[in-house]
Amino acid sequence: MKLELRRLVRGARLGILSGLGGGGQHSLELPGCLLYTRCCSVPHLTQDTLRTLGALPAGALLPLASVAEHQEVLESFQEGAAKFAGLHNTALFCSLHDPATLCPSGYNTNKTVSIWSSGGRIELTVQRYMALQAAVRPNWYQSLADGDTQQAGTSLKRIRKSVDRTLAFLDECLLLHHKAQLAEAHIFGVIEGGDVLEERLRSSRETAKRPVSGFVLDGFHSRAMERELQHQLIVAVTSELPQDKPRLLQGVGRPDEVLACVELGVDLFEGFFPFLVTERGCALNFDFNVNCDPESKEQEENGVAEKLMKDSEEPADLQQVTCFEMNLKDEKYRDDFRPLVEGCECYCCKNHKRAYLHHLLVTKELLAGVLLMLHNLAHYGGFFSALRRALESGHFEALKGKVLGLSRSV
Ligand SMILES: [Zn+2]
Repeated sequence: MKLELRRLVRGARLGILSGLGGGGQHSLELPGCLLYTRCCSVPHLTQDTLRTLGALPAGALLPLASVAEHQEVLESFQEGAAKFAGLHNTALFCSLHDPATLCPSGYNTNKTVSIWSSGGRIELTVQRYMALQAAVRPNWYQSLADGDTQQAGTSLKRIRKSVDRTLAFLDECLLLHHKAQLAEAHIFGVIEGGDVLEERLRSSRETAKRPVSGFVLDGFHSRAMERELQHQLIVAVTSELPQDKPRLLQGVGRPDEVLACVELGVDLFEGFFPFLVTERGCALNFDFNVNCDPESKEQEENGVAEKLMKDSEEPADLQQVTCFEMNLKDEKYRDDFRPLVEGCECYCCKNHKRAYLHHLLVTKELLAGVLLMLHNLAHYGGFFSALRRALESGHFEALKGKVLGLSRSV
């Protein structure tokens, strides 16, 4: 795996991560997002429907919780979770928790970390965790981590413990990494430290000393802390990390937060946001088309977008409808015969109207989820492409202004 940075725009890193996957044949453009899956399937979609999207991320995310109870099946299958689920042409990243579900706290110990699968709680020792990773056979994966510091008012003692445990887990994982048929996979170290600057710095420095291929930034989702503190801590963390290794930020997916975190030096996101939007019957419709005209250049210089960023609303919880989407269950779409987003090239927008989606949702047809997921993935992917183009062409401020809601198409 090799990270080539083509350009630095303020704090944002534009580049390409190459040599991913078994034969090293995949590459991922940065900043980018992974394709969110559960058990290696994109929710609602078969491989055929997924492929109608054309440009898909070359990396997929598999939360371990969705496969953990099938360890024995995967072990007897022997060829890994991606092949088991028929997920082709993608480099699989296996993470610990599912970013689209909240994880109960208070269950981790010095020896174990708990995850929740459909069958209930599974306690993972490092041994069990590495055996699971060996069964899943991901191309890259995170080390076991104790990220249970997200409750407000977590004590300094508890935060220190999470850093110490996570480093101890990493060292144990590294010892087993080469023995566990994972020699070809890449392991990412996890940065913890809650909302305490010193602990974040300690976690970053210590993790960076280990032979890891990249870094996972844990515990920064928008429910965990105030936005300003979040930004301050992410800057502190990324400035401690080596430039030539990728940084994946967990639990963050809202477009405004993505833009802010890219400027703080984050490369990769988990891609679960379009799924959350789909599950609440909504469609992404925020505008990210930047005209490269003189006016937007001017905006660049005046820093107009900076102000807008501060004024936009506070982070929502997982279920709440955000300002980046439209709620198609709303009665006002009952006889709206426009596509979800004018000019969108996805299957849904080319073939169906808002009124039809409204009908499918009201009558609780499963097709609603399929069509919404297709559009939301296409829209979110388009946003990341626009983000990279804007960094390339120097229109990042203009893009920020657009995304933060100067003009939304409703
Ligand atoms: Zn569409």
